[in-house]
Amino acid sequence: MLTREHELLKDTVREFAEREVRPPARDLDERQGFNPAIFHRIGSLGLLGVTIPENFGGGDMDILGATLCMEELGRVCASTALSYLAHSILCVHNIHANGNEAQKNKYLPDLCSGKKIGAMAMTEPDHGSDAMGLETKAVLEGNEYYLTGRKMFITNGTDADTIVVYASTGNDRQISSFIVEKKFSGFSVGKKLSKLGMRASPTCELIFDRCRVPKENVLGKLHEGIDQMQRTLNVERITISGISIGIAQAALEDSLDYAKERKQFGKPIGDFQLVQKMLADMYTWLEAARSLTYRAAKAQDAGEGSTSLASACKVYASEIATQACLHAIQILGGYGYCKDYNVERYLRDAKLMEIGAGTSEVQRVLIAKQLLKSNL
Ligand SMILES: Cc1cc2nc3c(=O)[nH]c(=O)nc-3n(C[C@H](O)[C@H](O)[C@H](O)COP(=O)(O)OP(=O)(O)OC[C@H]3O[C@@H](n4cnc5c(N)ncnc54)[C@H](O)[C@@H]3O)c2cc1C
Repeated sequence: MLTREHELLKDTVREFAEREVRPPARDLDERQGFNPAIFHRIGSLGLLGVTIPENFGGGDMDILGATLCMEELGRVCASTALSYLAHSILCVHNIHANGNEAQKNKYLPDLCSGKKIGAMAMTEPDHGSDAMGLETKAVLEGNEYYLTGRKMFITNGTDADTIVVYASTGNDRQISSFIVEKKFSGFSVGKKLSKLGMRASPTCELIFDRCRVPKENVLGKLHEGIDQMQRTLNVERITISGISIGIAQAALEDSLDYAKERKQFGKPIGDFQLVQKMLADMYTWLEAARSLTYRAAKAQDAGEGSTSLASACKVYASEIATQACLHAIQILGGYGYCKDYNVERYLRDAKLMEIGAGTSEVQRVLIAKQLLKSNL
């Protein structure tokens, strides 16, 4: 299913993740720390702009390649994978897909080298699933837009230098996106949120108080925000499914190791058929999620992607990841419930996957809508 190039990429990221990302993962989770230095190191692999051309410092890979990066990072530290996704897909891929040449030349090289950290701000305190109802306004005065409003739950927001921000630029849901730099006047970082999981990926509120944004920082064309949002969301849903697969893979690996070592009633618990059922179910779910996600990625790469396919892999991979983590905790018994083992972290991280990038309920609404429209 994977080309030689994809296999090579997967192996490279796995080796990097084991060496650089795994060692600090548990400590970062414990103290809700963030490790921006990891961005420089991922940048040195050429993967911060994994989907964009080499002339901007990117990795020139496809959506399937980006998904594999998420999977391998997600397998050792889902928080790092989430921050990497916000940077490489929501910001970098977005600017490349929707920006003009001047914007690409100005922003992409520093984002690809890791000199600058990226984020994307769509969600607001009162508008999550109903993102199109956003209230942040951008008003043109002379050569500058003045942005006023608040954004909520923004991954990397505390540390981001370059943020793609969605705001209303007219009536009737006319939305545009803007490239905002953290040094722009009127921009400030609000409260960092304390979270159940994904604790090593910083999430915060952003405040725009007549934030001055030059006219040339409208990403692409004015009022194009909704189309841009739709295009990027499909890519986000597919690539984020890679993180779910990585978490489920880690849950299965840890469960297998434990089932072989832990003895009860004089034999390894892996000999008990009720434990074997849990392992077999985890494997089956994982392989099904992987196949569906790779298929959605390949369809997107071939220009045949659809919202229903992207949403299907998002909803399935995220829900089986949570279930796989619950099984892993059950297999590890009391130890699985304690922080000396990683599986409780996997579960806390997995739950976010059913919420971020559109909840499972919203994905199902989208799938049903598209199915009904095509009279299937
Ligand atoms: C850790 C984290 C990181 C995030 N990172 C980012 C980021 O980088 N950038 C960004 O812009 N956003 C980000 N988000 C926001 C995320 O995308 C939203 O949380 C998500 O879209 C849900 O919105 P909400 O939390 O406001 O929930 P709500 O929309 O208020 O939903 C609450 C409940 O109602 C249900 N519901 C809502 N509408 C419907 C409907 N039509 N039918 C059925 N059920 C419905 C939902 O499924 C959910 O169960 C992040 C969130 C988290 C927690």
